[in-house]
Amino acid sequence: MKIAEVIVDVSAYPVDRPFDYLIPDEMEELIECGCRVKVPFGARNILGFVVGIKNDTDVPPDKLKPVSSLLDIEPVLTKEMMELAKWMKNETISYEIDCLQVMIPSALRAKYEKMVVLETDAENLEEPLRTVFRRTTKANYKELEKQNLLIPLKKALKEKWVSIETVVKQKGTIKEIRKVKISEDKDFLQKVYENLSNRAKKQKQLLLWMQQHAGEIIEPEVIYRKTDSSPQVLQAVIGHGAAEFVMEEVYRNPFKKDVGKTDFFTLTEEQEKALQPIVDAMDNHSPETFLLHGVTGSGKTEVYLQAIQHCIQQGKEAIVLVPEISLTPQMTNRFRSRFGELVAVMHSGLSIGEKFDEWRKVHHRKVKVVVGARSAVFAPFENVGLIIIDEEHETSYKQEDSPRYHARDVAIWRSKYHRCPVILGSATPSLESYARARKNVYKLLTLKERALKQSLPSVEIVDMRKELKKGNRTMFSEKLAEAIRGRLEKNEQIVLFLNRRGYSSFVLCRDCGTVMQCENCDISLTYHRYNEKLKCHYCGYEQPVPAICPLCGSDHIRYFGTGTQKVEEELTKLFPGARVLRMDVDTTKRKGAHERILEDFGAGKADILLGTQMIAKGLDFPNITLVGVLSADTSLHLPDFRAAERTFQLLTQVSGRAGRAEKPGEVIIQTYSPEHYAIQFAKAQQYEPFYEREMLMRHEADYPPYYYIALVQVSHEDLLVSAEYAKKCADYLRSRLSFNASIIGPTTAGIVRLQNRYRYQCLIKYKIEPNLIPTFLQLMKIYRTDWMKKGITLTIDLNPTMI
Ligand code: ADP
Ligand code: ZN
Ligand code: ZN
Repeated sequence: MKIAEVIVDVSAYPVDRPFDYLIPDEMEELIECGCRVKVPFGARNILGFVVGIKNDTDVPPDKLKPVSSLLDIEPVLTKEMMELAKWMKNETISYEIDCLQVMIPSALRAKYEKMVVLETDAENLEEPLRTVFRRTTKANYKELEKQNLLIPLKKALKEKWVSIETVVKQKGTIKEIRKVKISEDKDFLQKVYENLSNRAKKQKQLLLWMQQHAGEIIEPEVIYRKTDSSPQVLQAVIGHGAAEFVMEEVYRNPFKKDVGKTDFFTLTEEQEKALQPIVDAMDNHSPETFLLHGVTGSGKTEVYLQAIQHCIQQGKEAIVLVPEISLTPQMTNRFRSRFGELVAVMHSGLSIGEKFDEWRKVHHRKVKVVVGARSAVFAPFENVGLIIIDEEHETSYKQEDSPRYHARDVAIWRSKYHRCPVILGSATPSLESYARARKNVYKLLTLKERALKQSLPSVEIVDMRKELKKGNRTMFSEKLAEAIRGRLEKNEQIVLFLNRRGYSSFVLCRDCGTVMQCENCDISLTYHRYNEKLKCHYCGYEQPVPAICPLCGSDHIRYFGTGTQKVEEELTKLFPGARVLRMDVDTTKRKGAHERILEDFGAGKADILLGTQMIAKGLDFPNITLVGVLSADTSLHLPDFRAAERTFQLLTQVSGRAGRAEKPGEVIIQTYSPEHYAIQFAKAQQYEPFYEREMLMRHEADYPPYYYIALVQVSHEDLLVSAEYAKKCADYLRSRLSFNASIIGPTTAGIVRLQNRYRYQCLIKYKIEPNLIPTFLQLMKIYRTDWMKKGITLTIDLNPTMI
């Protein structure tokens, strides 16, 4: 008796453990750990992952149900991934199934049907498989199952005669082209040639050519062209057995354009000094974490590229994580132009099929390097030699819903598994990482100069309060307006940065002061000019702009705040003739829009690029000599203890866009709080003093990196019920946790009502609290068995990015 331990695809189940299923005899030789299966669960037949195989079970025979079907003949999860999931589910207080699902491409998740496709050399197979695969290189899994051919196939697989691919049936997830395979047997080709009558001139001509290309697989169109033959002629020759049609699977090419090759730079002395310890760690199989702190333009990427080169030379694989919004073609091309076909790219802009193809390239070892956003940290390489996280301070590395993992933690876990180094790179490291580097938990590597010795741009701060006194009511200070005019005259490019989107941030009645609010959330609505609507950015609620105030009936409705659309309007008024490109959430909705805007700007089709945080990073255009920050205050006043850090990071990143080539850069920051230290240190472009100053604040308030934090959040449609259960959480935590942890709350969340649910939270601060995870797991269990039925939602977020 063989038993499969299966993690099933049910959430909201109180217990999180594998369930035992009987493996039917016919599947015994086929099932492996890491394969997907379908199993009966309650009244349904659901997806699961086999995570263990054993010989007995405690489940009584009459209760033991068999696996209903096997979806993969080759595992989709590696042993490492299954171990990782076990660790991750505790670290993130989530279900194991959620951890497993996040590791595989969506094409392999429950909702898609599967089919097996084989790329095989039929000649190596034994009958009856051979017959099947001579006809086609593609075989339907179900068909093979019906003919009892799965076991022979599996054996062939084991002996590496065939390679196998699990493929989704969903339209467009696999692409094939028809090719012609010419017989390898030259004598046979000669014999066919001789047996043909001289009247079959075209066929003979084709056969002569085929003798030169025996054994090759060629596209029919190429054959027609090269031999001046037709489909009929080819068909006739195939009829004589001289060739056959084969289907060849092709990976979709997610890259619009080919890139040329670029050479490695000779590293600067600083870069050399940063690279050496990384190379040593690779050579010594040492799972060290390096923090590469380099100013913008210091050539961090070149250090990554050369480290990857070393990794490949060692015969190993590299994973490179880049924040989603920086994953531009410009960025990926830097990797592709060095490592060509060895690079796979994974990001959300790809279609399901493209994503699946890129994943398969990794799964089947066709590539050596993956460049991708957060979830690429799960790239199923089995011989990882290096993991890089660029812009490590970015909050997008933390997944906001379950499993709430941080890519950095997963990367470090994998580095220990593979005994290889991790590089965390940033011009503005997170305080957490920098503190760890100071304590030597991470090794600090520093690049102080720009790679091409360009000077850092000059940064100026404009006090907007004075502008108002001068009677300047536009959003452009005199200084900035003048600077823009100057660049326009010189045909140099300008980047304007605004940390907002939409036309106006809110709409207000000037008579009674009512701000138009979302019906479902405690959030003011944002005015969008393109459709004349008010929109909630949290729940998507939309309504037309009221002509009169819903409260007092006044018609003095006013738009407040500044959005990218409004800036664009003012810009074109102030600088008629200036060509403006706007890049924000609204102009980049469509696939490829982001790329196109950048391409156009790079090609000089616009003078001014105006945008939100999207433009803060990655832009590397030589002609940008002016960067303007319209309002540095927006992020400064967020109700978050990291507001100053975010502002400093943002301003530094944006400033880094200016003067990256020969022409020197200038940065102008407009603000109503010019004296704030985050703005002052950003102006001085000094990370260390900022770090010191910010650490004082964190120390004072017991915030990270001095303390860890965890956020427990409860929500319910009814305010009182929500408050009651939040109190229960707090009481439970207080009864279980030691003095090492302080529990604050319950308090209302920053936004109390969201999507018609009221939210309460408890904040836990702790240094070392061994009881924390077990307590959280226990609380989760109470929630899953009891509270959930009452309509409560409970989330636990360890190290939240925002509180
Ligand atoms: P960062 O990632 O630190 O912002 P980049 O890697 O983008 O910096 O490098 C900035 C610029 O300097 C790029 O145009 C890059 O091609 C160039 N560069 C980097 N290293 C070298 C080098 N050793 N020699 C010449 N140019 C370099
Ligand atoms: Zn009113
Ligand atoms: Zn809303």
